[in-house]
Amino acid sequence: MPDNRRFLLVRRPNGEPVREDFSLVTEPAPDLVEGQFLIRNHYASLDPAIRGWMDDAPSYMPPIPLGDPVRATTVGVVEASKAEGFAPGQWVLGLNAIEDYSVGVAGGFTQPIDAGLVPSVTNYLSVLGAVGMTAYFGLIEVCEPKPGDVVLVTGAAGAVGSLVGQIAKIKGAGKVIGIAGGGEKCARLVDRYGFDAAIDYRGKDVHAITDAIRAEAPDGIDVIFENVGGDILDAGLMNLRHGARIGLCGLISEYNSPDKVGARNIWQLIVHRAAMRGLLVADYIDRFAEGGAEMAAWLQQGRLIADEHVDEGIENSFDAFMRLFAGSNQGKMILKIA
Ligand code: NAP
Repeated sequence: MPDNRRFLLVRRPNGEPVREDFSLVTEPAPDLVEGQFLIRNHYASLDPAIRGWMDDAPSYMPPIPLGDPVRATTVGVVEASKAEGFAPGQWVLGLNAIEDYSVGVAGGFTQPIDAGLVPSVTNYLSVLGAVGMTAYFGLIEVCEPKPGDVVLVTGAAGAVGSLVGQIAKIKGAGKVIGIAGGGEKCARLVDRYGFDAAIDYRGKDVHAITDAIRAEAPDGIDVIFENVGGDILDAGLMNLRHGARIGLCGLISEYNSPDKVGARNIWQLIVHRAAMRGLLVADYIDRFAEGGAEMAAWLQQGRLIADEHVDEGIENSFDAFMRLFAGSNQGKMILKIA
């Protein structure tokens, strides 16, 4: 059996993760029993959600057990198989872990993929995977944008946010405003992704962000696609238009804070008869083919840009993961393992 390097969670992070919370170990690759196949992982998707799975708290998924490798969606190739339908050489997508080899079984999120259909097999972790489907179904189904709407996207230069802004434009939004960290990312929002306006939140308190949104949308916001939470959500809430819809996708600014901040301005929902709804991409698994087909068509037509940020080497797992919280990723954060 080949060596299997595994990036283990050995301690639950207290606030921001530190290196000592993890350990990279080498073990023999596992033996297979009937119904299983061995996946050589090539790429792992580094998602902010993984931070939540490290906590022992009620969630939509059980916490990563201590001593287990860090759970992540991967794409890889079947290397050995005792399962029907997963022959050696087949590319597969699945919820596995940051490790060289994972044991796969049919069902759930695990599925064969066709690497020949896409420019890069990593697209299955980004625009054609959960991230793309989060943007697509989160915006269209949860936020229900109407032509002419003013749409505010937070975490806008990230993997989900950059797609949301572009889809909003495709669907006829009147104005799409993005909030991101730093001048370079804000320029990218407008020049590369076609947002109408960008707001740099860095160095601004909640009042300054509130004012900056108001300057761009004096009559208020119809749709907020929320990826960040904290002050940024509070500033958005102070700029709602009557009947506004807020899709709560993520709260990345709060993932590393043991005392969650919460939304302090939700009273604005009453003032504006607005709706705030949580969204989870897993609810749309049955419709991924539908969303994927439309996203793929937009990509082919050059109407959608999907950037990926690939770091190499399982030994760099920690640094690559922490980019998500430092904001140093430009596009979907992916780790190349093989
Ligand atoms: P991403 O946006 O590519 O990366 C994270 C970005 O968040 C960073 O680049 C950084 O950008 C920003 N950020 C980090 N810490 C921040 C802070 N304290 N304050 C403000 N901004 C901060 O990641 P992603 O995969 O697209 O995920 C975006 C959000 O969507 C996350 O909240 C994630 O949990 C959520 N999500 C939800 C679902 C679902 O089903 N509900 C599925 C996928 C993702 P700046 O440089 O601009 O600060």
